[in-house]
Amino acid sequence: MTMSKTDVVVIGGGLHGLSAALHLARAGKAVSILERSWVGRHASGATAAGVRTLNRHLAEVPISLEAMDMWHNIESIVGDHCGFHAHGQINVAEFESHLPVLQKRVSTMQAAGYDHEELIDRDELLRLVPTISPHVTAALIARGDGAADPHRTIAAFRRAAEAAGVAIIEGARVTAIERDRGDDWTIRTEVGTYAAPVVINVAGAWAADIAAMAGDDIPLGHKASMMIVTERIAPLLKPVVSVVGRPLSFKQSDQGTLVIGGGLQGKADIPAQKSFVDFNELAKGARAATDLFPCVGPLRIVRSWAGMEAKTEDYLPVIGVSPNVDGIYHVFGFSGHGFQLVPVVGAIMADLIVRGSTGRKIEAFAPSRLMEQRHVA
Ligand SMILES: Cc1cc2nc3c(=O)[nH]c(=O)nc-3n(C[C@H](O)[C@H](O)[C@H](O)COP(=O)(O)OP(=O)(O)OC[C@H]3O[C@@H](n4cnc5c(N)ncnc54)[C@H](O)[C@@H]3O)c2cc1C
Repeated sequence: MTMSKTDVVVIGGGLHGLSAALHLARAGKAVSILERSWVGRHASGATAAGVRTLNRHLAEVPISLEAMDMWHNIESIVGDHCGFHAHGQINVAEFESHLPVLQKRVSTMQAAGYDHEELIDRDELLRLVPTISPHVTAALIARGDGAADPHRTIAAFRRAAEAAGVAIIEGARVTAIERDRGDDWTIRTEVGTYAAPVVINVAGAWAADIAAMAGDDIPLGHKASMMIVTERIAPLLKPVVSVVGRPLSFKQSDQGTLVIGGGLQGKADIPAQKSFVDFNELAKGARAATDLFPCVGPLRIVRSWAGMEAKTEDYLPVIGVSPNVDGIYHVFGFSGHGFQLVPVVGAIMADLIVRGSTGRKIEAFAPSRLMEQRHVA
């Protein structure tokens, strides 16, 4: 087999792989994406595509706010609106006893200097979401948040990356990464061998395997988040609604279907690349949906699925250079909330690889934090 030489090899053709490749190609690098199956095969194709700053971990807020600005200008970045609508994300307190959770969050955010999350009363909530059950008491809202169309987003990032010169090789499972005698890494796949001084590991639920091939031992868990889609109905609501203390993320797509998630967990066989819906668990999400929106009770569910993704111990992603080996970068472990971060994380990778550093706040995402925890344990 021939050896293809390039500046950067990206392992994984999900949205984070596409975004990193796009930003690097625009910064002048020759980039190849090696994808085991097809672009968008795993988490990026299974996602609920919520574009949420609301209730983010404080360490993620700076990059999440920048990503949100990018989503509001996504057409200028990838040439398509990606089905993004900024109708807001709302976290509802059903009962008075849930109010302190929202009040505490608002004070924490204000103390940190952020004002994008606001407490709204019941009247304002009912004005914004007239179809919600009247038993609710208040809510937290991020008005600039929203949701996008995941498949339209994948297609847009892919088109933009290819237009910038990125080579996307599908059906190319990476089987080994070896340091050759020069500055290059040799990346072996079932369909060819590649050489590059820089490798980005964006392999989602399988990222620990890729890290191990390069010599990094990064412990990872996994998530198998489940989703439900109903039949199409007339317009019911515009914002994305979640609820304190219950597993629910509830929105309506442009097509009229209701898209219901919220992090309920199915099961996954990661080595076999298979995920399974747990219908008993899924029923909890359906129950939360019908409690908040009683009118959806009679609707038919047309599809349900579970998607696989890597989870870290602190639920923060891994974004950064390997502390052990030159030229290896890790981008994974988004722990169920990486879709919103896609545009900005690609820009961060271009900073790190082209300029050698970034002005964005990414210290909390250093790969070494998980490797150090392993040593202590
Ligand atoms: C059901 C569900 C709902 C979600 N909802 C939201 C949401 O509302 N908002 C939000 O912000 N986030 C959400 N997320 C999370 C978000 O979708 C992910 O964080 C994001 O898509 C991760 O993208 P990725 O490119 O890192 O991973 P993936 O899309 O999983 O891409 C990794 C790729 O690596 C490839 N790969 C693996 N091993 C190899 C190998 N050896 N060789 C070559 N290629 C390999 C895989 O085939 C895969 O295509 C959700 C996730 C799921 C599953």
